[in-house]
Amino acid sequence: MGDLSDLNHDRVIIVGAGPVGLVAALRLVRAGIPVVVLEAAGEPHAEPRASTFHPPTVDLLDELGLGARLVELGRPARTWQYCMFETGERAIFDLSVLENETNHPYRLQCEQLHLVKEAAKMLDAELSGALIFNAKALRVRQDEDGVAVDVEIEGTETTLQGRWLIGADGASSVVRKHLGLGFEGETYPTASVAIGTPFAFEKHIPDLCGVNYFWADGWSFSMFQTKDMWRVGYSPPPDMNAVAAVADDEIQMRLAHILPSIGPFEIITARLYSVHRRLVEKMRVGRMLLAGDAAHLNSPSGGFGMNGGVHDAFNLADKLIKVWGGGDDTLLDLYARQRHYAASADIQKTSDANHKRHREKDHGRRLETLKAMQETISDEKAVHNFLRESSLMNSLERANALT
Ligand SMILES: Cc1cc2nc3c(=O)[nH]c(=O)nc-3n(C[C@H](O)[C@H](O)[C@H](O)COP(=O)(O)OP(=O)(O)OC[C@H]3O[C@@H](n4cnc5c(N)ncnc54)[C@H](O)[C@@H]3O)c2cc1C
Repeated sequence: MGDLSDLNHDRVIIVGAGPVGLVAALRLVRAGIPVVVLEAAGEPHAEPRASTFHPPTVDLLDELGLGARLVELGRPARTWQYCMFETGERAIFDLSVLENETNHPYRLQCEQLHLVKEAAKMLDAELSGALIFNAKALRVRQDEDGVAVDVEIEGTETTLQGRWLIGADGASSVVRKHLGLGFEGETYPTASVAIGTPFAFEKHIPDLCGVNYFWADGWSFSMFQTKDMWRVGYSPPPDMNAVAAVADDEIQMRLAHILPSIGPFEIITARLYSVHRRLVEKMRVGRMLLAGDAAHLNSPSGGFGMNGGVHDAFNLADKLIKVWGGGDDTLLDLYARQRHYAASADIQKTSDANHKRHREKDHGRRLETLKAMQETISDEKAVHNFLRESSLMNSLERANALT
């Protein structure tokens, strides 16, 4: 590694302009800290991916002036349910019980691309030139005074320097790989299909909530209602190839299992995703910090990946602001400890349990789970705690309490 001591240290370099990188960037810029955000793609990512924002995440995004805009662009779901599709037996959870603890007692259904687009616009307005598209980080290095990134911008390789670096570059993180960190875990044997359709299912299926997990005969599926779409998700058969899984006839056949004799349905998006559960060995190496999917991956069941990543971004940015102002840099070790704990002790465990529960095929076990949920709902204290857990409120508090 070359000597970096004479390089410009006066900024934080953030690799990746996904939800996590952009939220961290905005928080830092608001505190007067210069940032540069490098994004490999040519524009904000247009993939819908996440749709669930949990209450504490929207509360945090309010602090950046983004919460209200996302509520406008999305659809709040006060209730969500588990339901036996054929019989209609169900357990409905009502997030209103959290209304004294959050300004947003609902699961906001809003595609993550809206967060990315709005945050990118805001960042550009507040620090013009801070966000560089078509900028692919290739290699990173550091010494005790600073960091450097070799980056290809519009096809030309150059080197940028800074004081700290945040790797928010997603599941295949170049930053994580260059730090040589292990990313242990597993890839689940079945992938997931996520479909977006504007078809008005609510006019045909009685008693839909904004968020629905259905157990149906031989399969299970979820239905989430955003502002102008239904997001339908399910696992295709494990032996089905990727092209066949998102072919129009296969998707129409699946949707016809939900509503026969209505199609063809208009399909706006259909993607197949592998599902992983992985955790980086540590989230800080010297002046480099990892956040979001670059550090941890989990099943989307329960909607925790982006939410947990946004919680990382706030925790990290707030500590980095103190360190920038002269605070002890061991605060960044505390960031790493707190958010590693949240990922391993809460997010991965709960999303894994959700993943398995939703894919349960045995009718008896499904009924047992449904009965247990109904009992929880009938117990005021139990349902309150359950909803705090499933909306990551407890997770945030437990992680922040670690010293
Ligand atoms: C189908 C599906 C549904 C989901 N639903 C939910 C949900 O409801 N709720 C929830 O909380 N989570 C959900 N998730 C998870 C969520 O999408 C991710 O956790 C979230 O995108 C993580 O954000 P991030 O910023 O860490 O990474 P990303 O969103 O992956 O962003 C990383 C960015 O870095 C850029 N990048 C990568 N490499 C480089 C490089 N070398 N140089 C420069 N830039 C680079 C990428 O182009 C990208 O823009 C879902 C995921 C899927 C697949």
